[in-house]
Amino acid sequence: MSDEPDVGPRPRIDLHSHSSWSDGTTSVRELFADAAAAGLDVLALTDHDTVAGWEELPEAVAASGVAVVPGIEVSAEYDGRSVHILALLPDPAADTGLAVEMARARASRDERARAMVDRIGADHPLRWDDVTSQVADDSTVIGRPHIADALVAQGVVTDRSEAFAQILSPRGPYYVPYYAPDPVRVIELIREAGGVSIAAHPGSVTRGDALPLELLEAMVAAGLDGVEVHHREHGSDERERLSEFARRHDLLITGGSDHHGAGKPNELGENLTAPQVLEQIEARGTSGTRLIRP
Ligand code: AMP
Ligand code: FE
Ligand code: FE
Ligand code: ZN
Repeated sequence: MSDEPDVGPRPRIDLHSHSSWSDGTTSVRELFADAAAAGLDVLALTDHDTVAGWEELPEAVAASGVAVVPGIEVSAEYDGRSVHILALLPDPAADTGLAVEMARARASRDERARAMVDRIGADHPLRWDDVTSQVADDSTVIGRPHIADALVAQGVVTDRSEAFAQILSPRGPYYVPYYAPDPVRVIELIREAGGVSIAAHPGSVTRGDALPLELLEAMVAAGLDGVEVHHREHGSDERERLSEFARRHDLLITGGSDHHGAGKPNELGENLTAPQVLEQIEARGTSGTRLIRP
């Protein structure tokens, strides 16, 4: 049809997104409806440290006509900094080493959020109830974005970005870290759970710093499958550098929007993954988890 927007080559595959089971602002069903409207054919659901949204995937796929790669964005910590690793097609069972570590991280996130709210509440009108009222479900993985939403609701800041730039900054007085496993351990656990591991937006990790590049190499040695080269946080130089790293180590190259609904400017489909790469991901996944197609 001539009035259809030019959406480029098909299939259009976006391998990174969040729902309100973590810090996205839309339900799984809305997320997939939005993915259809954005002209996507395949979307990975990669909520932080949880598979809670997976249950809703069959229905969301059927309603939207968009296929899903079930996934997780797993939190890790290295040298005091947060490192994110995408686990695509892992076993979602609660007794894998991966699930056990994620449960520990979620519990620590909860304590940490309460501690941050205590600190912020000493200077600003913010109580724990203000945060829980921003959260979709008791099982939601709580993060700084939910504290940001509460600060917006209280009129302290105008949006999440302002909250992150000021009150929630890791360099500010209110920041509290949370437990997350070592990245090398996370790579091993994803592999044990039969999943495919992709270093999420690693450019900010490697930028101008020799030690974190060593970390990426250690992750490769532990069995890292791929690198998310195409991401809004990477400029063209960064993409070139990471592509070269991926070619040198024979890693998969992926792209994703890291869409968080209204919580971030990232638009569904703004970065994509090549169809041949998705085929390799499907071939490498060894758990029973498969793509769900309409
Ligand atoms: P946390 O894991 O609780 O430390 O919070 C980090 C999360 O906040 C990341 O997953 C991002 O999605 C989100 N985030 C980071 N910076 C911003 C920002 N400037 N605006 C909105 N969300 C952000
Ligand atoms: Fe997030
Ligand atoms: Fe991330
Ligand atoms: Zn993400």
